[in-house]
Amino acid sequence: MTASFDIAKIRRDFPVLGEKIRGKDLVYFDNGATTQKPLTVIYALQRYYARENANIHRGVHFLSQQATFAYERSRGRVGQFINARESSEIVFVRGTTEALNLVAHSYGRPQLGPDDEIIVSQLEHHSNIVPWQMLCEEKGARLRVVPISDTGEFLFDEYERLLSERTRIVAVAHASNALGTILPVKEITALAHQHGAIVVVDGAQGVPHLPVDVQDLDCDFYAFSGHKLFGPTGIGVLYGKQALLHAMPPYEGGGSMIEKVSFDGTTYAPPPTRFEAGTPHIAGVTGLETAIDYVNSVGKEQIAAYEADLLAYADAALSEIPGLRLIGTARERVAVISFTLGDIHPHDIGTVLDAEGIAVRAGHHCAQPTMQFYQVPATVRASLAFYNTRAEIDALVAALHKVNKVFGG
Ligand SMILES: *Cc1c(COP(=O)(O)O)cnc(C)c1O
Repeated sequence: MTASFDIAKIRRDFPVLGEKIRGKDLVYFDNGATTQKPLTVIYALQRYYARENANIHRGVHFLSQQATFAYERSRGRVGQFINARESSEIVFVRGTTEALNLVAHSYGRPQLGPDDEIIVSQLEHHSNIVPWQMLCEEKGARLRVVPISDTGEFLFDEYERLLSERTRIVAVAHASNALGTILPVKEITALAHQHGAIVVVDGAQGVPHLPVDVQDLDCDFYAFSGHKLFGPTGIGVLYGKQALLHAMPPYEGGGSMIEKVSFDGTTYAPPPTRFEAGTPHIAGVTGLETAIDYVNSVGKEQIAAYEADLLAYADAALSEIPGLRLIGTARERVAVISFTLGDIHPHDIGTVLDAEGIAVRAGHHCAQPTMQFYQVPATVRASLAFYNTRAEIDALVAALHKVNKVFGG
């Protein structure tokens, strides 16, 4: 760990971490659902609305020009963050869900025909399943699913078997939100390209935990949400390779996305503007840029190393609890721990933990097919961020012993 990783200072940057919940210190372990925001992000939103608010791309007046400049500068910053070639490869959307729907609509619809195939994995979030199912239904295409091992690993050999000249799209998570499994997206992409398929990466759990380089991965699209990266809700990113974006029709029609409108016909602006109809979430873009600056200041490599240490500590500590079953023990995981405890219902566990000020998720984590694989309706999920500590893991362990006592396990 470098000296710059000062956990006490980092925790002070996130005011909510100082809150008392039900009289206890908050232990926030629901980062897979949404992350907390540093003061810099909170202040950026306040500054924007208090002093800088204007619409972009329209006015000749000072504030509008300033807002436009800031908006496009943020696009550049996001591009650098994931190492896109051009800032024009960055499309601002509402979140991962909208990004994936945009690809299904604007890339998938024109490209897909009957008997074509889309490959996803058993580990996907519903938002990387349902848009592809809808597309397949519309086009008479087929959805194929790469199975996982008992430990929650993506089975690469099975993937290789599913690929064929019919495969048009491969859509996989960078990391599973339910189990934490990191998927080998670089290798998945290389193999898909050999078969002439494009690759869409759901990076919602990638960017918060892993350094991401889209040129190195060579994926065709990469989607993520600002609110899981310590930024605001309502803002997200779709990265797409320049040539693909240029060939795609718009997703929504309206203001800003046009070149010229007449009743004889309308021509569209080039990407990324083509895909940003209407007034965007300007404040959200500012907040996202600020969040990225914050993450960069902590250091992406430092974050990955700190979280790996925390995860190993948590795995070991939780394994000591009688009746606890870890669900998903892949060799390479981001800091997500899913588990069951005897046959105590996950919601009951969540309720006892809540009384101790510990926030976890109890449920199917929008990944019902993953739950079906393990034949459980739900798990308890503790998903960590770089502001969590070993002491908080210890608090979780103590609370789980209490759960066992309460429910006689
Ligand atoms: C949260 C999440 C999504 C959906 O993100 P939204 O911000 O709700 O659009 C998709 N995939 C994964 C892996 C997620 O964790």
